[in-house]
Amino acid sequence: MKAYEKNIRKVEPYVPGEQPQHKVIKLNTNENPYPPAPGVTKALEEMNTDRLRLYPDPTAAPLVEELAGFYQVNPDQVFVGVGSDDVLSMCFLTFFNSEKPILFPDITYSFYKVWADLYRIPYECQKLDENFRLIKEDYYKENGGVIFPNPNAPTGIYEELDVVEDIIAHNRDAIVIVDEAYVDFAGRSAIELIDKYDNLIVVQTFSKARSMAGMRIGYAISNPTLIRYLNDAKYSFNSYTMNQTSLVCGVEAVKDKEYFENGIRKIVETREWAKEELKKLGFHCLDSKSNFIFAMHPQYDAKEMFEALKKHDIYVRFWGSERIEQYMRITIGTREEMEALFVFFREYMKK
Ligand SMILES: *Cc1c(COP(=O)(O)O)cnc(C)c1O
Repeated sequence: MKAYEKNIRKVEPYVPGEQPQHKVIKLNTNENPYPPAPGVTKALEEMNTDRLRLYPDPTAAPLVEELAGFYQVNPDQVFVGVGSDDVLSMCFLTFFNSEKPILFPDITYSFYKVWADLYRIPYECQKLDENFRLIKEDYYKENGGVIFPNPNAPTGIYEELDVVEDIIAHNRDAIVIVDEAYVDFAGRSAIELIDKYDNLIVVQTFSKARSMAGMRIGYAISNPTLIRYLNDAKYSFNSYTMNQTSLVCGVEAVKDKEYFENGIRKIVETREWAKEELKKLGFHCLDSKSNFIFAMHPQYDAKEMFEALKKHDIYVRFWGSERIEQYMRITIGTREEMEALFVFFREYMKK
């Protein structure tokens, strides 16, 4: 072993879902099956590339202001980053510096554990109940911070805002981060609690409901004090996180509220229909309020089904980890993509 080895920061990295380079029915990473708003395409077509000579606005002002307008908050309550992964990572670095463990669910977005390890933050997972519901009382104990997604991933389960509020209210001495990557498909956002609780940060993304996973835009909404701390950390790390193209396209996406709402409506409709179809096929589905369904079949092994699907160029997500060994997570695609999935299942179950 080389002497310098002991000084290397070693981490077990997050494993992203596969991005196959050939054409598949891609239901594995919760991307949106519909294109971004037409204004985004137009902005890209009309883009003045001479502007790319220059650094982008380090404050990302046009995008921050557009988001502030959309959510009816002040621009100093908005922080933007390179996908919500960047924003969440910055939040871990900035707010989770206690000796006490941070708390998050045992079954949740697997990146939380990776950031905690990377930044050497102690953490303690809280078990979801047997129906994969959050037990709010588990988050009332002393801690160094709390983070959970709502709806949760990969379960898709949405907790009503009063549950979220109880957790925030019981943690006035710690920062609570609500990761709302999927809230647009679900219900009320915790953004409405921002003025009431100074310990709350809500994080959202353009990757799911706004069809722009490839553009990498995420944001946090909180009070001006916490947003300032986030910006201080960002400027100590990389001032120009938001590239010029993302800034321009992000603004266009937020402007088109009607397109946004229509897209969500289509996915929610397909989701509700797909849940029924899966149940008819004998699957047990959690009551997802997200753009994916977490499902298991009592008669068919999840890993075998996952591999058979892949052979047929239908990609879903499977972990095989504790408590969720028999579950697959299926992203809601177009109606046609879902039909193809059901055709496969019917054939598979005939054999
Ligand atoms: C998809 C997702 C994110 C991150 O998305 P970005 O593409 O980095 O914005 C964050 N949290 C959860 C729970 C997600 O599912």
